[in-house]
Amino acid sequence: MPIRLAPAVQNLVNELQKLPGFGPRSAQRAAFHLLENRQEQIDRLRDALVRASREVSHCRCCHTLTDDPEGVCPLCRDPDRDRTLLCIVESVGDQMALDASLAWPGVYFVLSGRLSPVQGIGPSDIGLPALFDRIQAASDSKAESLREIVVATSYTPEGDATAYYIIDCLKKRWPGLHVTRLARGLPSGIEIEYTDLNTIANAVYSRR
Ligand code: ZN
Repeated sequence: MPIRLAPAVQNLVNELQKLPGFGPRSAQRAAFHLLENRQEQIDRLRDALVRASREVSHCRCCHTLTDDPEGVCPLCRDPDRDRTLLCIVESVGDQMALDASLAWPGVYFVLSGRLSPVQGIGPSDIGLPALFDRIQAASDSKAESLREIVVATSYTPEGDATAYYIIDCLKKRWPGLHVTRLARGLPSGIEIEYTDLNTIANAVYSRR
């Protein structure tokens, strides 16, 4: 009979395997590593998870992750940011990469991923109602009414589908809004997070 993992170990492997980037083999490797070094690794990992879940929330304006006690991230508080320019990204990683390219002077809205009908991920799962509320609030406010919205989802099949859905909703609800997408110079099939900064900057400058 082949060796089977103890149920508690298998349970840990199963939980790790739910994380992005983990397959069955890597989840098993991580579980063995943690259990071999349990005193240091497990205690630190547990403390980090508890601290993050206690202190980190979504920014009330842009939905990025923040530990600000009032729930507004430093970027949304920055007076030098142009609040009339809004860039919609798929993840905090994409937001960080775009911002590191120094090409975007505006603010962001961070979605929780992409639409995926196959996996049952719909508009409210990725935060689209909150995005539309944010846009409505901006269009109600004279000071911060939007000059441009850039839909900066990746050029993957799901990123494309998400962009089309968002653009369609925006055109129906706010027909006068100027909506663009990042230029096609971005490599297709790759998330923005993993694209080099020059390529991102060029895609921002030549958006249309
Ligand atoms: Zn924010």
